[in-house]
Amino acid sequence: MTVVRAPGGSAPSAPPQPDPTTDGRLQRLLQTLATRNRFYREAWRAAGLDPRTVPGLALHQLPFTTKAELVRDQLAHPPFGRNHTFPLATYTRVHQTSGTTGRPLRVLDTAASWRWWGRCWTAVYQGAEVDRHDRIFLAFSFGPFIGFWAALEGAQQIGAMAITGGGMDSVLRLQAMADFGATVLVATPSYALHLARVARDAGIDPRSLGIRTTIHAGEPGASVPAVRARIEELWGARCHDHAGASEIGAWGYSCREGSGLHLIDGEFIAEVIDPATAAPVADGTVGELVLTNLGRPGFPVLRYRTGDMVRRMWQRCPCGRQGPLLAGGVLGRADGMVVVRGMNIFPSAIDALVREQRQIGEYQVRIWTRDDLDQITVRAEVDDGDPNAVAEELMARCHRALGMRVGFEALARGTLPPTELKAQRIRDERAAARG
Ligand SMILES: [Zn+2]
Repeated sequence: MTVVRAPGGSAPSAPPQPDPTTDGRLQRLLQTLATRNRFYREAWRAAGLDPRTVPGLALHQLPFTTKAELVRDQLAHPPFGRNHTFPLATYTRVHQTSGTTGRPLRVLDTAASWRWWGRCWTAVYQGAEVDRHDRIFLAFSFGPFIGFWAALEGAQQIGAMAITGGGMDSVLRLQAMADFGATVLVATPSYALHLARVARDAGIDPRSLGIRTTIHAGEPGASVPAVRARIEELWGARCHDHAGASEIGAWGYSCREGSGLHLIDGEFIAEVIDPATAAPVADGTVGELVLTNLGRPGFPVLRYRTGDMVRRMWQRCPCGRQGPLLAGGVLGRADGMVVVRGMNIFPSAIDALVREQRQIGEYQVRIWTRDDLDQITVRAEVDDGDPNAVAEELMARCHRALGMRVGFEALARGTLPPTELKAQRIRDERAAARG
């Protein structure tokens, strides 16, 4: 695969010319969709384009795609909507989104696009320097959510032994990791932290389990230096980030440098826009990531608004990879950002501050109003140490980093539910109070 090449050096520079291979694949995809995909034909017509003239257009001339549009289409045309390019009998897998925000979206894959998902995961494993000698433990329920199903397919493609952790509680998972000699743990960052605590409660040092690498997805935490450092210390392993979504594919991975996310070569076209105006932003500026996938013609997304806020840099990574690097990984959600006393605050920023306090286990962030003034209170389980000292230190840290005072409420262990998937830690109570 030809890769978009950028000049070396550490300073951001102008993006290179479009890669002819990627452009050729895009044009072939548009030709297929123009005659066979009812969802996109309709979307193009609604944008004032004649579907017959779309092949040949540049990507930026096409309309964006949003998750809300895909969900609406499935509601209007149940059960799978119209974004399937081929007859339904062509598809071999169906998954649905986790549904943490709104109605689940169903996604379809053909045998070929499922192999593509797996191929993208082989890049994730290569970034983490995982190979066929590894035994990969997948801490995942293996339900209809696509989650780490694709990680399982990718593990098979690199020839590693995959150990599936469905139908097990945390203690059984730890036991299975020890019994089978797992060397790699694939889990959400929150769950990796939780699993380490369960191990310690059971008198097991997680570092003794032989896990040398952890790979995370589902939340942006693994690119947050404080979260990564904590996972690495607890597990005695190198921690890697990965990003993907059911409706897009597995699109990003971290390398040994840990400086951010590399985009998977040639399989996705990335744009970065201002989420409010949809205008492209300059490289090095934070904006919303927009992705087009090229390897899933049966359920494609063109110019898909991911809602992920990123900072794209064109620079050579010390690992030797070129092309775009999303510095710091996914920095937050365009729709998850909260405005508190006029300041934009990303949950990941608070996560980083809380995670620097090693005594804190599960936590929640409550945003509420007192006397018409926004308040932030961190409610946290303090695993050890003096809760007052922990509170004082965290409040001082938050004040320095966020420029505002943050309250603290210490909770007993086990008060908050453990978070296995997509930690929803921010509880914004202001709208309910106003309503
Ligand atoms: Zn790199």
